[in-house]
Amino acid sequence: MANDSRACGTCTYFDNTAEAVGEGECRRYAPRPVSDRRETMWVSVSTTDWCGEYSAAS
Ligand code: SF4
Repeated sequence: MANDSRACGTCTYFDNTAEAVGEGECRRYAPRPVSDRRETMWVSVSTTDWCGEYSAAS
């Protein structure tokens, strides 16, 4: 797979719930705890980011 074909925006784990264009949340893993608050947060990603867990959305 060529690197330029991987992008969060085309990944099955990408959730485009963010209000900002070009941003969203990764749902590959459970939300992460925030160290200074009693809450968790999904990982925010850009549509052009990618990681080694990338899986093309069908
Ligand atoms: S961070 Fe990785 S797993 Fe999450 S949406 Fe982006 S490419 Fe997919």
